[in-house]
Amino acid sequence: MNIYVRDVSKIYGTDEAGVVALDHAHMTVHAGDFISIMGPSGSGKSTLLHIVSGLEAPTSGSVLYGDTDIHAGNDRQLSAFRRRNIGFIFQQFNLLPVLSAQENIVMPLLLDKRQPDEAYLKELTGLLGIEARLSHLPHQLSGGQQQRVAIARALIAKPKIIFADEPTGNLDSKSGSEVMKLLCRIQEATNQTLIVITHDSRIAAMAKRRLVIVDGVLSEVTAQ
Ligand code: ADP
Ligand code: MG
Repeated sequence: MNIYVRDVSKIYGTDEAGVVALDHAHMTVHAGDFISIMGPSGSGKSTLLHIVSGLEAPTSGSVLYGDTDIHAGNDRQLSAFRRRNIGFIFQQFNLLPVLSAQENIVMPLLLDKRQPDEAYLKELTGLLGIEARLSHLPHQLSGGQQQRVAIARALIAKPKIIFADEPTGNLDSKSGSEVMKLLCRIQEATNQTLIVITHDSRIAAMAKRRLVIVDGVLSEVTAQ
């Protein structure tokens, strides 16, 4: 499924106090693309990812998945669409503190009234090196382990598209690069679409397509 981001702007607030977080962003994402988006703090990276993944509505413009405008339907349709097609990895992991690692991982399926595929759960947690940690609560895990649990949660429903908003931003450089290598390896094996936001140029360089965003203006970095 291709994603067409068409002339998307986002303005927070109104009148003179309004902040233009995103200024006519335009991009086409092809199925299987691995894209990095780099930009300084406050440049609009999270705003872009939230709008493209349906977490937030644009002020103007549209986001099409195939020929479906995801912001045109109601909230219930959008939530169902997101649960079935999109995995999202946050910088702060966003695990539920009272649930075990395994309960966190399978939560997206339960919300969609689906049963986890035990074999896939085993494969995924094995690949991510967290199979011995599944009964632990998030606070009993290191940052790197928590992010690997969050990755498993993002992938368990086999989404076509994975978004990651500075997935290594809260990790030390060693566990950050391990987490990124795992994400890259999974993307290569499954050919899922992966869009990663970072302000680390080494991480940006792992992607096959690179975009930059400055003051809400998005542009593609073309190879020299
Ligand atoms: P980044 O992820 O690149 O650091 P953001 O997309 O979070 O940047 O923010 C872009 C701009 O929009 C910033 O100036 C930020 O202060 C502003 N902004 C983000 N979210 C809100 C909000 N909910 N209300 C008002 N301003 C916001
Ligand atoms: Mg951000």
